[in-house]
Amino acid sequence: MISDDERVRALRFEYDEPARAMLVEWGDGAVQRIPFAALRKACPCAVCKGEMGRPGRFDLRPELSPGEDELADINLIGNYGLGVRWGDGHDTGIYTFEYLRALGDAAEQ
Ligand SMILES: [Zn+2]
Repeated sequence: MISDDERVRALRFEYDEPARAMLVEWGDGAVQRIPFAALRKACPCAVCKGEMGRPGRFDLRPELSPGEDELADINLIGNYGLGVRWGDGHDTGIYTFEYLRALGDAAEQ
């Protein structure tokens, strides 16, 4: 039986440039592609999500600007998440593996 932990244990990250997506391989064997644009718009940081009653980045202007969905770099944050730096320099979002898995599941539908 596959536990919930395996579903959110990221084994491998890769850039799929032709598809403009990030490929994630999970502990339960699933391989998912999360489009860069979907990943960028789902940035969980306070600026993008909004906080304390202030609207988020994409509430004001949903369109992506050049560079905003260019994945420049990714780095592991401990054993629970992924830091992402975008082409426009934005790098404050930390995507937990649980969150990435949910994005991956959504991208498959
Ligand atoms: Zn953000």
